[in-house]
Amino acid sequence: MTPNRQCIFCQILAGKMPARVVYEDDAVLAFEDIRPQAPVHILIIPRHHLASLSEASKKDEAVLGRMLLVASEVARDRNIEAQGYRVVANNGSLAGQSVDHFHLHVLGGRLFHWPPG
Ligand code: 5GP
Ligand code: ZN
Repeated sequence: MTPNRQCIFCQILAGKMPARVVYEDDAVLAFEDIRPQAPVHILIIPRHHLASLSEASKKDEAVLGRMLLVASEVARDRNIEAQGYRVVANNGSLAGQSVDHFHLHVLGGRLFHWPPG
């Protein structure tokens, strides 16, 4: 899908907005969240504009799998693997999705509660 000019994550992908990138490959980009909710808070996004998980289809299967594997690699690199970490995807308004370009949050370095608020 073509980049969405209104989308802040597409702007980061295009190099038009700065971001602290921690990992990138041909399919995904991972960068520090601008308002971290934990000592480690990384966002992982597909390189193509996918508004939410609800928009995903069979053609996105490989990139969705890659995103989870990158979450695991980022957690290992940031030394949060042993103590545990959380991977979150907010989908839609009630879940609190505020950027309409699908992303995984990787959060670690503190205690998390369940259920989330
Ligand atoms: P959501 O609320 O959609 O699940 O998560 C969006 C996340 O994107 C939030 O944690 C927010 O802090 C982060 N965010 C929003 N704008 C920017 C930005 O311009 N740069 C970065 N690095 N993170 C952003
Ligand atoms: Zn986008």
